[in-house]
This record gives sequence, C-alpha cells and structure tokens, in this order.
Amino acid sequence: MKTLDFAKSVREDFPILKQKASDKPLIYLDSAATSQKPQTVIDALSHFYSAECGTVHRAIYSLAAAATEKYNNTRAQIARFIGAKDPNEIIFTKGTTDSINFLALAYQDILQEGDEIILSVMEHHSNIVPWQLLAEKKKVILRFIPINDRAELDLIAYAKLLSPRTKLVSVAHIANSTGTINPIAQIIEMAHAYGAKVLIDAAQSTAHIPLNVQELDVDFLALSGHKAFGPTGIGILYGKYNLLEELPPVQGGGDMIETVTLEKTTFAKPPLKFEAGTPPIAQVIGLSAALDYIESLGFENIQAHEHELLSYATEKLQKIPDLKIIGTAKEKSGIISFVIKGVHHLDLATLLNLEGIAVRSGHHCAQPLLAHFGLTGTNRISFAPFNTLDEIDALIEAIQKALKLLI
Ligand code: PMP
Repeated sequence: MKTLDFAKSVREDFPILKQKASDKPLIYLDSAATSQKPQTVIDALSHFYSAECGTVHRAIYSLAAAATEKYNNTRAQIARFIGAKDPNEIIFTKGTTDSINFLALAYQDILQEGDEIILSVMEHHSNIVPWQLLAEKKKVILRFIPINDRAELDLIAYAKLLSPRTKLVSVAHIANSTGTINPIAQIIEMAHAYGAKVLIDAAQSTAHIPLNVQELDVDFLALSGHKAFGPTGIGILYGKYNLLEELPPVQGGGDMIETVTLEKTTFAKPPLKFEAGTPPIAQVIGLSAALDYIESLGFENIQAHEHELLSYATEKLQKIPDLKIIGTAKEKSGIISFVIKGVHHLDLATLLNLEGIAVRSGHHCAQPLLAHFGLTGTNRISFAPFNTLDEIDALIEAIQKALKLLI
C-alpha cells in the first residue's frame, strides 16, 4: 500500500475532516491530545443508545443480556489486543489518569515507609502527581530517572536508582511531550531483577505500536480509549491476575461485591472488585469498535505512514531559521515539539488556528521535562494515519506566514 493512498482512504473514515476550521480545511495535528473518531466508532455509540441501551450484569431481560455480552466480549477483545492471558486481568477505568490513580491508591496498603518508587523526568503529570500524593501520605520515596538532551532516558542512572527498596517503577511507553519511545522491555527486566513491579503508561502507544503484555512481562499497564480512536471516559488498567488479587478495592458500591450485610461486605473477584457502580457501557462498546478500526488499518501500515510523516515534517521544520526541535531521540513516534526563538508558543498556535491548523501549545502536562530544557512551553504537532504530506507543507507555509507577523 502506498503511503499517500493509505492516508487518502483513511480520511474517508473520519467525518470531522470534512469540516472547515477558520473557513479553511481542518488540519488536525493534535492526535496525541485526543484522537478523532472514525464513523464506525460514532455509529457504535449511536447504535447502542438508539437500539441496544441496557445496563450490564443486573437484569435478565434481553437488552441487558445483550449489553452484558458486548461488555464482556470487549474485555476479552482488549485482552487479545494487548496480549493478556485472561480477560479478568482487564479493569475498565475512565482513562490512563484514572488507572494510575487507582493503582496509587491501592498501593497505599502495600507500601511501607521508606519504600521507593521510580518514575522518570519525562512523565506526564498523571504519572507523577498520584505518586506524590501517595509519597506524602505513606512516607514513600520517589526517585526520577533523568533524561539526556535528546530527551532519552538515562539507563545508567536508572540502574543506579534501582535497589531492593524499589517496589514499583512507572514509566511512559511514549513521552507525550517529545515522542520519545522508551525501551520498556529493558526497563521492565531491570526492575524485575530487584523484585520491583512495573507499570507502563501506554496512553501514547496504544494506537501506534502493538503491545504484548505477556511478552513484555509487564505487571501493570494503563491506557486511554480516547487516544486510540475511542470515546472519552473509558480506559483500562491491565494487571497480572495474581497481583490484582492482592490489591484492596479502592471504591465501594454496586457490582463489586459478593455479599453485603449491615456489618460486613465480601468482595467479588477481580476485575469486578475494582469496578464499582454502573460502568461506562456505551464507551466500552465504542472502544471495541475503535480497536476493530486499528486492526483494520493494521499496525504495519500505521507505523510506516506515521514514520514517513515524522521524517518529512522533521526535515521541513529544521529548515526554519531559529526553530529548535525539543526531543530528538533515536526512537521516536509521530510527535514533534518545537520552539522558535523570539516566538511565544501561544501566539504561533493562535495564528495557525486562523489557518485551520490545530496544534498544541503549552507545557503538555510535562513541566519537569520542559524544565530540563529550560522551557515553560512548546508547540507540539502529532500525527494520525489520516495526516498527509500536503498538510505538513501547509503547516510549514502557515508557520512562515506567522513568523512574518511575530518576529
Ligand atoms: N500519560 C500520557 C503519556 C499522556 O499522553 C496522557 C494524556 N495526554 C496521559 C497519561 C493522561 O491520559 P488521560 O488524560 O486520558 O487520562
């Protein structure tokens, strides 16, 4: 399949791309923040509400039985998608942030004063703040893997941080601010040598790199549906079943119990033990359609296309005087952060918006990484399979036009 033909056919699947922005064709370059939705996902959501709406687990009538079946099938589908052994290792959450917060709350009962958790300087705030809250409460120590000036993790420093006190390592598969792809297999193996468990934040990789939790031997993995063509409000936390069995419930309510008396509750087994209340049923069904969509495109095609976009855009951006790319790791996904001397990122994003181009500006919820580079913000572009080389040309032209006004 030729790359451009690929993007052309993918574009047909996304109704939003037919819209104009600022009276120009919409050029969406912010898929790292949230992905646009293909028609099949929109249809799955709409069909659920118009023809299939029912609750799960609690009723015998046909609508509820059908909703329960779809809900359970999606758990099995996700298990297959990430290479998990057992659908019961998949907990539905609201998203990556919710998954990490859940684990941090559950770990309150597991960690002792003086235990250590290793994170990295390039983490999204959602993989820092929940651990800081835990650290303060339980007097646990947080350590951070430093990065080099290409925004790659310093694995020699990581090796020195690991010790028998390390109980958990939590790092991103792909950094949202720079696109760095981290060597997670190595990170996991090194942590396991000290008996530490590992959580991988796969928010940025789900729609771009195939995952196999069994091959990786990862203990926990978090992801968000909305970054992988699915709806907002749905994500997952994967955990090895024996580890999930050891975790206490974090929320109480309906669906997560075995029996309740006024004195005492006994809990359901994982994953239901961790899913209190009526779950986001429509979103789960939408996520199922999103995973079908990714598989219909094929990871090989997605990766080849996004790699071409990354190389082309990097080369073109580098030709703009005084533009500096932040994050030049050898292994990168389709995300480019950049700054231009004398230009505020917000001003540039505002002018690009007038050309119909959606790019991100700001700290990307990664202030420690930006602090490493002495910055408080960048402009960031990120790709989806529907982006084209023509759109990158339009971006470069629009940046050059904006610079005439800004410098
Ligand atoms: N981690 C990374 C690497 C991310 O990019 C994001 C979203 N920008 C998150 C975590 C948080 O995801 P969500 O907001 O969907 O919970």
